[in-house]
Amino acid sequence: MQDLQAIKTVLEFYKALGIDRLPLSIPETGHPTPEEKAKALKALRQEIGDCKRCKLYKGRKNLVFGEGNPDASLMFIGEAPGREEDIQGRPFVGDAGRLLTRLIEKMGFKRQDVYIGNIIKCRPPMNRDPQDDEISTCMPFIKKQIMIISPKVIMSLGRISAQTLIGVKIPITRLRGKFYDYEGIPLMPTFHPAYLLRNPRDKMLVWSDAQQVLARLREEF
Ligand code: SF4
Repeated sequence: MQDLQAIKTVLEFYKALGIDRLPLSIPETGHPTPEEKAKALKALRQEIGDCKRCKLYKGRKNLVFGEGNPDASLMFIGEAPGREEDIQGRPFVGDAGRLLTRLIEKMGFKRQDVYIGNIIKCRPPMNRDPQDDEISTCMPFIKKQIMIISPKVIMSLGRISAQTLIGVKIPITRLRGKFYDYEGIPLMPTFHPAYLLRNPRDKMLVWSDAQQVLARLREEF
């Protein structure tokens, strides 16, 4: 059964690369290597190109692809780039990003150990919520990133990310704190760091979610 799952993972990985025939050799482990994952992410970035697939391209300074370890065991997925992220072309680099970095470090990782991305890759005007058509147009990219990286656990940040990945319209206050299944990967929804800047008392809840994530990661190794 595990062998079948490994073959499925490899086939999906090559499909994400746009390769519809098997390569001559499959890694002995049955899983893509970190180098292959890095290559696949690079190919995906090229495929996205100077994207104009939805209207958000009109206001962006930079498309924010995501960054981190292509072979990360833990992946964070937020909503969309904000002002600072749009300027720098990197995810979570403003005040909320600094809070996320502190959480990552408190969990015992360095920022470069994990992978950080967003549901949407271009900044919505005035940081408004992404609209349904923008989410559905951009979503295939983060889906491919998840498939390539194949993390052991995903932590989603904020309402939009959780609702989109889980496929429900339940408030984040009710979604957080429990694991859900995202294509076979445990997904823990928690509050967005920007919310925590306004509601610092809820940091305790995020830390409790993070501890569940750490416990799940320990089980996986
Ligand atoms: S938000 Fe996504 S789909 Fe829309 S233009 Fe940017 S990269 Fe393309």
